[in-house]
Amino acid sequence: MALFSKLFAKIRGGSTSPADWDEIERSLIESDLGAKNSAEIIALAKRAKAEDIESSVSVALAQWLSVQPRDLASNSERVTTVLIVGVNGTGKTTSSAKLVSYLVDQRKRVLLAAADTFRAAAIDQLQTWGERLNVPVVAGKAEGDPASVAFDAITQANKSSVEYLVVDTAGRLHTKSGLMDELGKILRVIEKISPVDEVLLVVDATTGQNGIAQAKLFAASVAVTGLILTKMDGSAKGGIALAIERETGLPVKFVGTGESAADFAPFDAPAYLAGLFRA
Ligand code: GDP
Repeated sequence: MALFSKLFAKIRGGSTSPADWDEIERSLIESDLGAKNSAEIIALAKRAKAEDIESSVSVALAQWLSVQPRDLASNSERVTTVLIVGVNGTGKTTSSAKLVSYLVDQRKRVLLAAADTFRAAAIDQLQTWGERLNVPVVAGKAEGDPASVAFDAITQANKSSVEYLVVDTAGRLHTKSGLMDELGKILRVIEKISPVDEVLLVVDATTGQNGIAQAKLFAASVAVTGLILTKMDGSAKGGIALAIERETGLPVKFVGTGESAADFAPFDAPAYLAGLFRA
């Protein structure tokens, strides 16, 4: 990503002209850091002494990261329920499957619920993943009631020795309130039986500032506990993770970097920040 190495090299190289500053600011904005954040970094860099610039900028950026827990919730006494939410096309269903695969790799017993009943393909997609990962899938009928799938899934999870229940939900945005009502209903139905521990919002990194706006909308209506940033492989614009954490206060918990199950990992914030400074 090396977002900042060019900036530092230029500044250390001696006199920085107004045109240079403009170019640097443009490159930060193009990295999806956002206009306001980029302007702040430029102002900070202009104030700093050349030899202190790297540490001043890195200290400022570290403060933009979310202070909320980044680890996935876990419980030893009961099932840990994770709801996956987001707009269609962001990679919600794929991320649900990838998360299940990640948990299976950690030797957890997992149940997957296909509550995106609006999209028949999403049910098929998850059933195929379930077979591949050897994980049971609770699925309703296409066009069925997603809350009833969620109810069946939490009932089954509670009766068995399942440690994690991962629930994929629908993300159609035909009306925002319709979607949020449906999510609210799923949450209430599950919580009658067992707490929902995580609501992970899936955001497509390639949608840049739109993705950030989407995250703010969701977080205003549902108690989102963290983000899954997908398609980081398709975005050379490394600033998005920093910008989205600063704008929403939510931690990125996982990143997706491709279409296969292995292309998924917990977000390593210190390594990410270090990457922005690498030459
Ligand atoms: P949903 O509508 O949000 O459930 O989206 P899907 O899970 O069906 O994903 C939409 C498309 O994005 C599919 O073609 C996925 O393979 C692709 N996809 C999901 N995550 C990633 C990722 O991290 N990187 C890439 N390159 N593609 C992804």
